[in-house]
Amino acid sequence: KLITIEGPDGAGKTTQVKKISEYLRTKGFKVLVTREPGGTSLGEKLRKLLLTLEGESPVPEAEALIYAASRAQLVKKVIVPALEDGYIVLCDRFVDSSLAYQGWARGLGIKELTDINGWFLKNNWPDLTIILDVDPSQSLKRLRKEKDRLESENLEFHKKVREGFLKVHSMYPNRTRLVDASQNPEHVFESVLFEIEKSGIIKI
Ligand code: C5P
Ligand code: MG
Repeated sequence: KLITIEGPDGAGKTTQVKKISEYLRTKGFKVLVTREPGGTSLGEKLRKLLLTLEGESPVPEAEALIYAASRAQLVKKVIVPALEDGYIVLCDRFVDSSLAYQGWARGLGIKELTDINGWFLKNNWPDLTIILDVDPSQSLKRLRKEKDRLESENLEFHKKVREGFLKVHSMYPNRTRLVDASQNPEHVFESVLFEIEKSGIIKI
């Protein structure tokens, strides 16, 4: 099964992915943790490219395709083989980040981004997506000051990203679950675990 953790910058995705993986491993599951952009050698290079851009910025369409390229590589090289090998794959960001960031916040259209990604995802859409929902004025405070271009986007942009994730949730109400991520990490983890159990995709 493919479980993806989504949400705006500073929502606590990486922390939750770590907690979920530790929990599932103690329950005897084989768990593979990966992230986006990145997760493959090519993907990590694309991540670096995107996060350390100097000078000319990619137009939104180019940005969308670079994220998609990283994802296509990850799906074919890492995710599909792991799923075939019986792993639960946990991904820190996946396609819904593209729907929210490039599709909604950058204005390319959620439908358009669904089509671009659907072209190579085929039947490898996530089995379950946890969207960590938090007000960006709170989540941005959590971020340590990393000097990468995208995290230096303004509050307005991050508000649009949150809005994008809420739209994605309303468009995919079965696959995605919204979790209030304004609480402390332990509290959020309880809610996440509850949603995973409730989804029935794995028997914990
Ligand atoms: O938080 P994370 O380590 O995943 O950082 C990745 C960066 O890439 C974030 O700043 C996020 O805003 C950005 N991003 C984006 N569009 C995506 C995925 C990530 O702008 N589709
Ligand atoms: Mg993170």
